[in-house]
Amino acid sequence: MKCSKCAEKAVYHRRYEGTYYCKNHFIYMFEKRFLKEIRKSKMLHRKDIVAVGLSGGKDSSSLLYLFNKFAKMFGIEVVAIGIDEGLKKYRPKTLKAASKLCKSIGVGYHIVSFKSGIGVSLDDLPKKLKKRKINWCSWCGVWRRWLLNKSAKKFGATKLAVGHNLDDEAQSILMNFMRGDWRHLQYKPDDKNDCVDAGFIRRIKPLGWAPEKETTLYATLLRLPFCSAECPRSFGMLRRKVGRLLNEIELAHPGTKQQVICTADRIKASSKTGIKAASVCKQCGEVSANKICRACEMRQIVGK
Ligand code: SF4
Ligand code: ZN
Repeated sequence: MKCSKCAEKAVYHRRYEGTYYCKNHFIYMFEKRFLKEIRKSKMLHRKDIVAVGLSGGKDSSSLLYLFNKFAKMFGIEVVAIGIDEGLKKYRPKTLKAASKLCKSIGVGYHIVSFKSGIGVSLDDLPKKLKKRKINWCSWCGVWRRWLLNKSAKKFGATKLAVGHNLDDEAQSILMNFMRGDWRHLQYKPDDKNDCVDAGFIRRIKPLGWAPEKETTLYATLLRLPFCSAECPRSFGMLRRKVGRLLNEIELAHPGTKQQVICTADRIKASSKTGIKAASVCKQCGEVSANKICRACEMRQIVGK
């Protein structure tokens, strides 16, 4: 098949649009959308220091590459932070790929471990919690967000960028529906999230409109070093099941994932009772809707 924009051979078919892209037009389209998202949502200010959460997977690797590519144009500095949860059979491979990317594009990479930041690694948890039924991703996700936020501030960042793609966003929305989590369905970011001095740092997701297939293709076409291994703890988790279901529906009805996100945006826009995370945790000073944040509650459970 030929590219819809030129006579070159197509490398990608965007089914929900019916458009074919050659390598150059795909890269151009992908980067244009990244820039558009940043401008539309006013994600950056000049002199921002952007900390990119870099796991070594295709999403965060593409994100770091993009920020670094356009850093001069935006007048920003870029730093990368990797979180090592202590999953011995998985994380070292992804951190290795991440280090390789940072070295090749000249971006500083800081690796922060659960062991040093929380006091316990994920692999050591079962011994301490053998009587509890653990949802690995809940524990890991809460601590990862907490540590990433703390570390970003420590390294002087004014924005924290994460590589969540369209599939991740659509999955999260459906999971919130399934759990009856109306608080997150209505959540509207607070302007205070932009104020680092008060302990808040704005999280930005410029790839939130990029399907997973496209971030994979972008990283592949540019030959970015990335690791495609999947976390062994994710098997059997609800997110994977929801992801499979969405892929199946998307195949038969292209555009479904975008529609899920549009619907959630409309719910947020019409919500009068959106939750605003305006307070801070009494123990750690991080953003929290309650007196003690979930990360500190969990640290207490494991005696840290
Ligand atoms: Fe952590 Fe779950 Fe992600 Fe694995 S899949 S790194 S356990 S959040
Ligand atoms: Zn706390």
